[in-house]
Formats: sequence, C-alpha cells, structure tokens
Amino acid sequence: MARIPINIKEGKVAKEDDLIVGIDLGTTNSLVAYIKDGKAIAVRDQEGKSSLVPSIVYFSAIGRIVVGDSAKDKLITHPENTIYSVKRLMGKSYKDVAGLENYFGYKVIDDDTESLVKIRVEDRFYTPIELSAEILKALKVRVETELGRPVHRAVITVPAYFNDAQRQATRDAGKLAGLDVLRIVNEPTAASLAYGLDKDNQHDQTIAVYDLGGGTFDISILHLHDGIFEVLSTNGDTFLGGDDFDRAIMDYWIEHHQLDAEELARNKELSQALRLKAEEAKKTLSKEARFQSSLNGYAVSIDRDTFNGLIRKYVDKTLDCCRNALRDAQLDKKQIDRVVMVGGTTRVPLVKTSVSEFFGKPVYDQLDPDEVVALGAAIQADVLAGNQKEVLLLDVTPLSLGIETVGGLMDTIIPRNTKIPTRAGRQYTTSVDGQRNLKIAVYQGERDLVENNRKLGEFILKGIPPMPAGLPKIEIHFILNADGILKVKAKELRSNVEQEIEIRSSYGLSEEEMAKMLLESIQHAEEDMAVRGLLEARNEARNILLSADKFLQQNRAILSDEEISGIREYREQLRLATEGEDKDLINRVMEEINEFTRPLAQRAMDAVIADSLRGKKIS
Ligand code: ADP
Ligand code: MG
Repeated sequence: MARIPINIKEGKVAKEDDLIVGIDLGTTNSLVAYIKDGKAIAVRDQEGKSSLVPSIVYFSAIGRIVVGDSAKDKLITHPENTIYSVKRLMGKSYKDVAGLENYFGYKVIDDDTESLVKIRVEDRFYTPIELSAEILKALKVRVETELGRPVHRAVITVPAYFNDAQRQATRDAGKLAGLDVLRIVNEPTAASLAYGLDKDNQHDQTIAVYDLGGGTFDISILHLHDGIFEVLSTNGDTFLGGDDFDRAIMDYWIEHHQLDAEELARNKELSQALRLKAEEAKKTLSKEARFQSSLNGYAVSIDRDTFNGLIRKYVDKTLDCCRNALRDAQLDKKQIDRVVMVGGTTRVPLVKTSVSEFFGKPVYDQLDPDEVVALGAAIQADVLAGNQKEVLLLDVTPLSLGIETVGGLMDTIIPRNTKIPTRAGRQYTTSVDGQRNLKIAVYQGERDLVENNRKLGEFILKGIPPMPAGLPKIEIHFILNADGILKVKAKELRSNVEQEIEIRSSYGLSEEEMAKMLLESIQHAEEDMAVRGLLEARNEARNILLSADKFLQQNRAILSDEEISGIREYREQLRLATEGEDKDLINRVMEEINEFTRPLAQRAMDAVIADSLRGKKIS
C-alpha cells in the first residue's frame, strides 16, 4: 500500500519523503537535527529554548512513559522508575557490567551470564534497546512536530569505539522507534563534518576530537584524506565528565559551608537539589568569575579559581588519555592539524585553555559543543539523501574477525585495522568422511586460540551432501558494512548449499577490554605460536591415525604380519605423542610413519591397478 505523506500544518500533500534526520543518542543528552535551507539545525523544544533532550526515561505507576526534562525531575522522587545512562548498557552482558551495580539508581538485574542485560522497572523487564527506542521516539515526535510531517529515516551517531554489538543494538533501537537507520556514524567523524573539515580536499589532515560530556570522556584521532575519514586511535575514560565537576563543587560546599553531610545522605531530595545547584554554579562559572546563591537557607558560593583548583586533576586525566591516543596513533602532538571540541563540559574555560595549550593551537569551538555531533549527523544524512555528493565516510575495524578451525585455532578473515566497508572470503573443507553439517563459529580478537578471543556468534551449514573428507568446497564470506555490522555467508560450492547470518553478538566489548585483548595478543604472541604449532601437529597426526586405520583395513591381504604389527606400533607411538605437549616428537613420529608406509602404499596402489586390469574383459 502506498503511503501518502500529508503536511498537517499546511494541509497539503507533502512532497516525497526525502528527509533523513541526524540523531546524537547521548549518554546524558540526545538531540535531533536536520538540514534546512542548506544549513544544519538542531530541533528545539516547543518553547524554542533547548535542543537537548535528557536521555532519561521515566515509567509512571500507570505505565505511562515520559522522556526528557520531565523525566529528569523524577530522578529524585522515583529513582527506581527513572532510567538514565542507558547508553552505557547498550550491547552489554551482565558480565560486562558487573561491578557497576552501585552506579545505577535503578535495577539492572544481575545474573553472572553472557546474555544481554535487562532493566527491571516494577515487575516488567526492559532491554537497553527498548529504552533507547523510547528516547528515539521522543526525538522523532519532536522533529515531526516541527516539520508537520512524518519522518522515517535517520542517521544515528555512536562513539568511535563502539563494537559490532553496540552498533547493532543502536540500529535495533532505531528500528523499534520506527526509524529506518540508514547509517551509524562515529561521533568524532560527525563533529568533524559539522565543522566542514572534509571540505578541504587539497590536504591530508589529522584531527583530534576531544569530547567531554556528562559522564564520559572520549578522545579520537582521525585522519582525513580525499574526504575519507579514518579512525587512527581512540582513548578515554568511561567514568569521567561534567558530573565529576558537579560532585567536586558539592563536596567543596559540604566542607566549607558546614553543610550537614549526614542529613544530605539521608535526604535524597536535598542532596539532589544540591547537585543541581552545583551544576548551575559550574555553568555560571563558564561565563562569570563567581557564583553566589542560596539553598535551604544556606548561602553557597564559589569562584572560578577555586573551581579550577577542584577540577584540575580531572582535566589532567583527560590530557593523559590524549597522550595515550597520540601514542597509539604513533603521532606527535605537533602532527595534529585541528582540534575539535565536543560535549557540554568543553565550555568550561579551564578545559578549553588546557586542551588548546596541550596541542599548541587554537581549538574549534565556534559551534555549540552540545549540538555539534547531531549537526554532523544531519550533514551525513543529507549526503545519504543524495543532496551532497562529495563526502564519503570510512572507518576501520578495531579487532580482527575470523572463524574457528580444527583444534580451536583462530583463522582470521578480516584483519584488524582493515578499512570498512570490506569483504573477504576463504575456502574450507570438511575433516570427516560424509560430514553433513559444518559449524561456523565467528570470533573477534588477536589471539591464535579462539578460546582467548570473543565469540560473536555461530551457525551451522546444514545439508552438505555426503562426500569423503576434504572434498567439499566450503566458501566462507565475511561482509562488513559501513556501520561495522558483520554478515557471514557460507556456501558449499559443489552442491550450492548456502547459509547466511548477520552477527548480533551476544555481548559487547568495552574500549578497555579491546585494549586489553590487543595487549594480551602481543604479550602472548610467542606462547601462542608454540601452542599453534602443537595444535597443528596434533591435527595432522589425527588425520594420519585415521588413514593408517583405513589403510590397515583395506590392505590387510597384501601386508605381511611384520608390516601390520609395524604399522600398529608406529600408530601407537603417534597416538601417545599426540597426548603429550611435544610438537617436535609428534612431527618426528609422523615422518617415521610416512617413511615406513611409503613402500607399502606403493605396493597397495600397484595391487589396485593390477586388480582393476584383471577385472577388465578382453574380448
Ligand atoms: P553526553 O555526550 O554525555 O550526552 P553532553 O555533551 O550533553 O553529554 O554534556 C553534558 C554535560 O555538559 C553536563 O555535565 C553539563 O552539566 C555540562 N554542561 C552543559 N553546559 C555547560 C556549561 N555552560 N558549562 C559547563 N558545563 C556545561
Ligand atoms: Mg555526546
């Protein structure tokens, strides 16, 4: 059925639905933007005051769902029914979030498994995807109200370090909100687009994007070449942001204005009011040298110098992350051409001057740091809508992708740091005669043994026609699209049996875990190589044992007793060797067995030929 878009405001049939909006789905705040008359604008609330929608979802007693500013108020009164920071849970398993129980004021049910987390509100359970979808729905309504017509398509941004599972979860949230998510774009890339950095086609550029939000800090180093963005490295701290600055001011007041710490601990409402007052102070100090106010009859005040003293350690910590990011990208500060500021907390003057001093150049801060990611997403959306032709986006895979082969070995199909989108494939075969099914298990990581990597998913290629081992030709294809979502296809070429899955990982990887896996792979490289050698020798030995048995069965008639017991003896030696850890021993026995059986195999072959000739009738 055709859908006819109607412009409610103007009471006319709207033109073809060609609009794609850009959405920044943030940890603290989210917003939606689109291109109007060739310019990206963020959509404001009905009063035209703020474009930010707090990423907070409140469930009322009668099951009503409230998102944004109104939900924020419920943080104090109904903490158990008010969900914030859900982005931290996207694509995560219980194991991933273990230890964070106290961070959330609501219930993240904990069972120590690898299944995806759920959040409990009253007697219902919600996935982070469903909760994010509520935020997206609120943004969808906001832009539809402004435009007076439905919106169906969007580009959504995610942190550069988001893995497949987290990206897929974001995409699913969009789908659930009734949005066709045309692309998932990295936040730093979007911010660079908002500043039009891609427009300079003449020069290669290296860009540092410094993003300090409410509760998270991300630094990303991008390389821009011919309008193509590549992520060189990312670093950051998932628990560092403006919230820490608020807390520092609160603690300062508690100490210097002799506020009653015990009463604050007891009185949630009062402590929340103090927190909001502290945030107000922080924002005021971004413009003025001093903040003065009162709370519950207490006078509270702070000046900028004192504030700077309180937050310096946090700012220094972000600079450490910048150093790490530069090191990972193998770059010197001086090689950074541009520094882009993102996130509400970059309005803090000390942050701005410290970052500018660190990189030794002025920073890009002309655009609203709250909006810059959404504006970039809108520009990317416009490109996808075909309104801008010259921009193309590109990223790299942070970890290698591959499958498990015999003996638990990782066979990498797409190596880490490959530019995406990409596709790669390889042929495999069966290891057992008449094998009808082949399990394909997909892993992510750098280690040689799959058990040390992360499993992303598995499927079974069924219905392979029975053939001797080694005969089927099974082609496995990895297709990694521009959003970093992986499709795996398997096809048996002789029979055209085919199977395909889109990988929805069972759990996600945090940035730290990713770094840890890379580090481990380097540290264990030697050990892994030894293990790999052993496993390969064992696999080969196992095949030889099988063929030795077959050989004995089929050729008993032409073998002498000594030969039979000789083969049996070597067979036993090899079997014992495979149980040990000495790959050289296994290889040696295999060589001996080969030596011993070579003349016998020759004789067997001759016998077969003689036999077949004998069978032929010469008329
Ligand atoms: P996120 O990306 O995590 O969703 P935002 O980029 O929206 O977060 O940043 C929110 C943070 O920015 C909050 O801690 C807020 O207090 C802070 N912030 C907003 N405006 C200002 C300002 N004028 N001065 C200092 N901090 C600010
Ligand atoms: Mg943000």
